[in-house]
Amino acid sequence: MKIGVIGSGPGGYFAAIRCAQLGFDVSLIERYPSLGGTCLNVGCIPSKALLDSSEHFHQLQTGFDIHGILVDEVRLDFNKMMQRKQEVVTQNTKGIQYLMKKNKIKVIHALASFAGSRELLLTKDDGSSEKLLFDKCILATGSKPHCPDSFNYNKQRIISSTEALCLKEIPKRMIVVGAGVIGLELGSVYARLGTKVKVIEYLDHILPNMDRDCSNELMKSLKRLNIDFQFGRSVAKIQQIGNSHVELFHGAKEGSESLKEEAEYVLVATGRKPYTEGLSLNKAEIQTDEKGFIKTNQNLQTSNPNVYAIGDVIGGAMLAHKAEEEGVYVAELLAGQKPELHAHLIPQVVYTWPELASVGYTEAQLNERGIQYKTGKFPFKALGRARASNDLDGLVKVISNEQTDEILGVHICGARAADLIMEAVALMNFKASAEDMAMLCHAHPTFSEALKEAAMDASAKRAIHT
Ligand code: FAD
Repeated sequence: MKIGVIGSGPGGYFAAIRCAQLGFDVSLIERYPSLGGTCLNVGCIPSKALLDSSEHFHQLQTGFDIHGILVDEVRLDFNKMMQRKQEVVTQNTKGIQYLMKKNKIKVIHALASFAGSRELLLTKDDGSSEKLLFDKCILATGSKPHCPDSFNYNKQRIISSTEALCLKEIPKRMIVVGAGVIGLELGSVYARLGTKVKVIEYLDHILPNMDRDCSNELMKSLKRLNIDFQFGRSVAKIQQIGNSHVELFHGAKEGSESLKEEAEYVLVATGRKPYTEGLSLNKAEIQTDEKGFIKTNQNLQTSNPNVYAIGDVIGGAMLAHKAEEEGVYVAELLAGQKPELHAHLIPQVVYTWPELASVGYTEAQLNERGIQYKTGKFPFKALGRARASNDLDGLVKVISNEQTDEILGVHICGARAADLIMEAVALMNFKASAEDMAMLCHAHPTFSEALKEAAMDASAKRAIHT
C-alpha cells in the first residue's frame, strides 16, 4: 500500500516510521528543509534548551549560596546560549533524517496540496512540481501561532514564540500576551535572564485548564521571579513605534479606561491555529470545523475515506506526544490492527520552575460532570528529598473516585513534575486506585514519595509526613 504522509512533525514522522515498520511504501512530504516540524525546530526542543540554560543561569545567581557555593561574578554569553539551542535543534532534526533513511522512507521537500481524492501535487521551492498518487494519506500539517489582526504581528518587535526563540538581544522589558503554557515558559526564560516581564491575561488566572491549587503555587514562584501579572485585561491593539519599542493598549473586559504599556518586545502567546494553508482541501473533499481544524471520526479518518488526519491540525490537546500516539494509531489501523487511543490519559506539562504536570480530570471538570471524588494532597516542603535539594515549592494532588477509589486525576506542581507524572499515567492506564499507588514501595529519598503520600491521603487520610 502506498502511503503519503504530509508534514514531518512528531505526528508525521512517527506515522511514517510506524507505516514503514509495518511494510508500507511511505513518502513523507515536508515543505521546509529541516525535518521535525514545530516541535523540533520552533517548539518543544528549542524552548526546553533555553529553559534549561536560563534556569542554570538563574540558579547560579540565586540558588547556590544556600548550598555554600559562593559565586563572585556571573556573566552571560547570550549568543552562545542561543547557539547551543540551535545545535540541540540540529542534532535532533538530523536524527530524524537518519531515521527516515534507516526506515527507507522517501522524503520529498515540497509544498503538498491535494489534486484529487487520491492525488497530491508537490511543488518544490524551485517552482518544479510532481504528482504523487496514494492509497492512503496521513495529514499531519500541524499548527501556526494565532495572532489577531489588531496585534500587528510583524516578527520584529511584535513577535510569536518562533521569534522569541531566536532573539539577538535580551530585552529590557517584554510584555507577554496570554498566560498559557507557551507564554509562561518563554516569559520565564527571559525573566531569568534579567528581562522585566509583564504577562497580560484576559482570564483571572494562569493556565485555565489546569488544577487551580497547582497553578496558584506556580504563580507564587513566577512572582518571585519578578514576573508581573495583570489579569482580566483585554488587549485591544499593539503597534511598533519606530525601530525601538512597542505600544500595547489594554482595557478591563467590561470596557473601562484603556491603559497603555510600552516594552521593547511584545510576545503574542494567544494560542495556535490549524495549518491548512495551500492544501486545497476542497479538491479532496476534506471538511474542516468552524475554527478550521480538520474534522475526523473516532478513527481519525477525514470526510475523505482515503485521508486520515492527526496532531495539532485536528485540535484537542496540541501536544507532541498526542500527535505521536495518533500517528502510530493510524499506521496500525491501516495495517488491520486494533490500536487504542486514550485521550484522557495524555499528560500535560508546563516546563517552568517548578514544573507543573497533570493527567486526567481536574476538580473543576469532575464538578461539571457531577462525579463524586475525594482528594489527597502532599506539599513538597514536607519531603526529605525536597529539603535536601532545596526544591521546596509545590504540591502533589491525587483525586480518586469517592466510591471506588479509582484514580481520576493527578496534578503536580514541583521539582521534576514532568517526569513524576508518568507514574500516574501508568497506574491510571491500568485503572489503579489511590490505595494501589499508596501501596507501591517508593525509593527513599525521592520526589516520587510525594505521590505516595498524596495517594495515602486520598485513599484513607493516612499520609505519614503531614
Ligand atoms: P507540527 O510539528 O507543527 O508539524 C507539521 C509539519 O507539517 C511542519 O513541519 C510543516 O512545515 C509541515 N507542513 C504544513 N503544511 C504542509 C504542506 N502543505 N506541505 C508540506 N508540509 C507541510 N508540545 C509538547 O508536547 N511538549 C512541549 O514541551 C511543547 N513545547 C512547545 C513549545 C512551543 C514554543 C510551541 C510553539 C509548541 C510546543 N509544543 C509542545 C507543541 C508541539 O510542538 C506540537 O503539539 C507538535 O509539534 C504538533 O505536531 P504535529 O506533527 O501535529 O505538527
